[in-house]
Amino acid sequence: VSDKLKNVYDLIEKKKIKYVDYKFVDVPGTWQHKTHPISELDDDVFENGTGFDGSSIRGFQNIEDSDMLLMPDATTAFIDPFIAEPTISITCDVKEPGKSDGYSRDPRHIAKKAEEYLKYSGIADTSYWGPELEFFIFDDVQFDVLTPYKGTGYSVNSNEGVWNSNHNSTPNLGHRVRFKEGYFPVAPTDTQTDIRNEMVGLMEEIGIKVELHHHEVATAGQAEIDMRFDTLASMGDKVMKYKYVVKNVAARNGKTATFMPKPLFGDNGSGMHVHQSLWKDGKPLFFDENGYALLSQTALYYIGGLLTHAPALLAFCSPSTNSYKRLVPGYEAPVNLVFSSRNRSAAIRIPMYSNNPKTKRIEFRPPDATANPYLAFAAMLMAGIDGIKKKIDPTEAGFGPLNKNIYHLAAEERAKIRSVPGSLDEALNALQSDYDFLLEGGVFTKELVEGWIDYKRSNEIDPVRMRTHPYEVYLYYDA
Ligand code: GLU
Ligand code: MG
Ligand code: MG
Repeated sequence: VSDKLKNVYDLIEKKKIKYVDYKFVDVPGTWQHKTHPISELDDDVFENGTGFDGSSIRGFQNIEDSDMLLMPDATTAFIDPFIAEPTISITCDVKEPGKSDGYSRDPRHIAKKAEEYLKYSGIADTSYWGPELEFFIFDDVQFDVLTPYKGTGYSVNSNEGVWNSNHNSTPNLGHRVRFKEGYFPVAPTDTQTDIRNEMVGLMEEIGIKVELHHHEVATAGQAEIDMRFDTLASMGDKVMKYKYVVKNVAARNGKTATFMPKPLFGDNGSGMHVHQSLWKDGKPLFFDENGYALLSQTALYYIGGLLTHAPALLAFCSPSTNSYKRLVPGYEAPVNLVFSSRNRSAAIRIPMYSNNPKTKRIEFRPPDATANPYLAFAAMLMAGIDGIKKKIDPTEAGFGPLNKNIYHLAAEERAKIRSVPGSLDEALNALQSDYDFLLEGGVFTKELVEGWIDYKRSNEIDPVRMRTHPYEVYLYYDA
């Protein structure tokens, strides 16, 4: 028995584990699971997998060939804190029976292929990823499409304020935090320190190294918990665990957590900025003491790749119809396809907190946590590699650097600056005409990309487009 398996078996013995819970990610990016009594777990499962019906999983197989296998990855085992009976949770890769390679639509497989492709390119051997997920914790969300309130059509309520005049189930005790002032007064304004601590405590217990948590800028219950950086596929695993912990701790406190990018009209949305850097032979590749914002030429080309492909990338990084309600001016979300060492409205920000070469990284700000992290990270890496290979200098390509506040620029200067797509529809169109860079080295397949576009159009864009919006009722009812 290999060491990895021995560790799992030891853990099962020591903690008197009764169940094994197999988890894997679907194409949109939600964890799925099934559970077996622990007696069903043996070497054979690790070697040959365990079956499931792939036809019912979003983005997977058609009904004709639905038998699929989960291949448990022993290195991912953890004790599941949200299941009452002692349970070991193992993340799985997905395989088709009889095929030796991974399944082409398994996001985790794509993430690992992207890592291999980076090595194969010779540019670097390691990429580090530091996503910063933001989310809201609400006590109550009510859908009320017939009484549009400020155009949201539904009301939310957190213990930091009641956000709807016609929603009175909890008293607000006369206190309400002002819009965009949640960052970051102490208690009693911040009422969520304890629940964030509870989340962080569990994250650390199940193997996620956390650097800090804080209240975010939006008024009512917006939080951020930041993890220490990690390699690509491993960070994908951590994002899945992170969301699992956040949602379940909220639930066991009688609340809900949401990662949707823009739940509140008029206040800040929730992003998932992604810090990233490349390393080779243990050395950071993004630092140069003489470069703009201490960036190396490699980092600049990487930026050139990200910004050139940004409209297409956003189909994976900001992949919901709601994502584009966040990407508007005035809320610290990026709108401009430029890089900058300062500006938070820039798609790429270069953090300047330190001049240590090891911490030199770039921050891509458009993503949000409706993204499938494996696919989003893999796509960003592919765009960056493309920039390096093609030597796309971001300044020559017209992407800045932009250090001034964009609103203070002369009109003709401002007109030259490109923006992020205005809707998911635009981002999918951009992806449709620009995805060759994702297919390099067989990392993404054409059928995965085309499948993604179809899925998003038929399951998200069309159903949203065809429904009457509460704000339309507000505008047109009396026409
Ligand atoms: N919440 C902002 C966003 O939507 C970001 C705030 C920050 O800079 O952390 O991207
Ligand atoms: Mg933040
Ligand atoms: Mg950030």
